[in-house]
Amino acid sequence: MTIETPIEFLKSIGPERAKLIKAVFGIATVEDFLNFFPIRYLDKSKTYQIKDLKENMPDIQLKGKITHFQETGTGRGKRLTAKFQDETGVIELIWFQYSQWMKEQLPVNRELYIFGKVNLFNNQFSLPHPEIEIEEKKEKEERLKPIYPGSEKLTKRGLNQKFFSSVLRNICLEIPNLLHENLPDDLRKSLKLMSRRSAYLNIHFPKNLKHLQHADRRLKFEEAFFFQLGYGLKKQHHQSHNVGNPFPIVGEYFNNFYENHLPFELTNAQKRVLKEIRNDMKRPVQMNRLLQGDVGSGKTMVALLSMLIAMDNGFQACIMAPTEILAQQHYHGISKLLENTDIQVKLLTGSTKTSERKTIHEGLMSGELSLLIGTHAIVEETVQFKNLGLAIIDEQHRFGVAQRARLWIKNKIPPHVLIMTATPIPRTLAMSFYSDLDVSVIDELPVGRKAIITAHRREKDRIFVYNFCRDEIKKGRQIYFVYPLIEESETLDYKNLTEGFAHISQYFSGNTVSMLHGKMLPAEKEIAMQQFASGAVDILVATTVIEVGVNVPNASVMIIESAERFGLSQLHQLRGRVGRGAEQSYCILMTSDKLTNEARKRIKTMCETNDGFKISEVDMELRGPGDILGTQQSGVVDFKRLDLLQDSEIIKVSKEIVEKILSKDPFLNHPDHEMMKNYYTKNYKGKNKWGKIS
Ligand code: ADP
Ligand code: MG
Repeated sequence: MTIETPIEFLKSIGPERAKLIKAVFGIATVEDFLNFFPIRYLDKSKTYQIKDLKENMPDIQLKGKITHFQETGTGRGKRLTAKFQDETGVIELIWFQYSQWMKEQLPVNRELYIFGKVNLFNNQFSLPHPEIEIEEKKEKEERLKPIYPGSEKLTKRGLNQKFFSSVLRNICLEIPNLLHENLPDDLRKSLKLMSRRSAYLNIHFPKNLKHLQHADRRLKFEEAFFFQLGYGLKKQHHQSHNVGNPFPIVGEYFNNFYENHLPFELTNAQKRVLKEIRNDMKRPVQMNRLLQGDVGSGKTMVALLSMLIAMDNGFQACIMAPTEILAQQHYHGISKLLENTDIQVKLLTGSTKTSERKTIHEGLMSGELSLLIGTHAIVEETVQFKNLGLAIIDEQHRFGVAQRARLWIKNKIPPHVLIMTATPIPRTLAMSFYSDLDVSVIDELPVGRKAIITAHRREKDRIFVYNFCRDEIKKGRQIYFVYPLIEESETLDYKNLTEGFAHISQYFSGNTVSMLHGKMLPAEKEIAMQQFASGAVDILVATTVIEVGVNVPNASVMIIESAERFGLSQLHQLRGRVGRGAEQSYCILMTSDKLTNEARKRIKTMCETNDGFKISEVDMELRGPGDILGTQQSGVVDFKRLDLLQDSEIIKVSKEIVEKILSKDPFLNHPDHEMMKNYYTKNYKGKNKWGKIS
């Protein structure tokens, strides 16, 4: 037997069963089987008494007797129940599926151990599908019993827990021939990591809880380590192969702007990040940097200043935004900042007129036009630059990887790439998923910002909420009302929006109210946005088109309707539309009375914190990492054992160690690194599922 042996050749499997197991669990080889991990363990070292049962207990063991059983119901409702009793009480055992044979074998009036998870229903404990062991046959040495993922399809054919356990027992006997260490001894010793062989053995057949924990830690570390090693090697490769245009100077454009046109003092975080970008762009290596900064942290200014450096070095620069509104917003903001300079900037989107488009194309080709802002219209083939030196992508995870890659080919030597995101992602996720990007973080808001006050209100409070809005408008503030727009129920949602608009218009008849949604024409949208931005409109009733990046500092109240229907990062983004000026701002989350637990947690989190990183962590807890990265990229971080939430320490340590190793031995040529290198080459090299991130 080797780890590559197909499972059909294993004792007690054969071709038929092998096919079935492969179809259900994807297990094809001995190695797959070793990596088929128990989902939990039953602790058989402890026996509970029925009187001590509580709600929400983990799997437990009870000792007693089945006194009698009966069948009830017919067809799909048919079930088998039995009374199980110890000296302290009685519970009910239930089988929703069972065979005639099983029923006949039920050991009545014999001393038994049963295992499983108890439920409390109508004040009565029950235990569905218990595992049963007759006392005299109980395996004495077995303490933590592994439970493998179950499948009805397999269980029906006898491929049950006992079967998996016995196959794995046979495989584990061969572990010394099957598995070899892949981490250097020194490393293992310094981190007190269990050997690889021992870890696999103890994952499947734990000697005790402590051994199990050690095994778990070892396997998690290994997973994190080789993942980081892959990224580390990739980054190294990138740095030695991806030439970039060096921008050695900071010149007139930058200095003139910085000294004469900067409307405010940069925050320290902005200065630090700018320095990081500047240092990257100095080198003849393509920059590949992620700029994370919470909403309102002032990423736009960092972008502009970076573009000016590109110009100082004779290059063009562009910003690509995910929506037309956001592109316009950037365009207006940056035009305003450049108002008193002679720097030209243009806007290119899907709705740019043909004549204007032509002018832009020509300006870009001749080099007369240095700065371009736009939507994905920028990556169309017809758009050619004389020498694009810097491409900035705002709100990156709206763009697909492929779209971004099209920016690279705009220049012979690929432009430096700066990806800006206002949706902080949990640090552990960033460390894993983006570990081949350099990450800059703006972790400070401009001074004088007041924390946004967030409150949860229900339908019965609506009039109070309206009155509050009225008072704010009297003070000269502006209000957003946002309605959810979720594609499956689009027409219904538009109905909500238009009804909401009618209702609000009626209530606020003395004020100006306008509407903004995705189905409007770009020109209409722009007018609505402009009117709101100029202060001509008091209330903007909108869908989530305003979610990303919109900046109207005078708007101080954000009302989110049906807030329970929004995800956390979306709520946080929406809230970020207020609190952009000096005034106290508010976010009011309107919900119905009935909330799911998850929705309640989201609303509570929003009311408790403004910290985007904290919010992103709760979000990951609720949705899992795949969802956070977006569907296009889910699956990228499905680790076998590693949990991005629980295991941040392991991820951090593994990353540091990989960096240390690669800085001393970039090609892993040292004899101590041979095992590691071989293992990596065999199992990871070329197997990254995601390719280039930006
Ligand atoms: P985001 O990071 O969300 O894109 P913006 O770049 O839109 O944030 O900036 C939000 C607001 O803060 C803008 O009105 C901008 O002019 C202002 N701003 C940015 N940096 C500073 C600063 N250092 N001091 C004061 N205001 C700033
Ligand atoms: Mg922004």
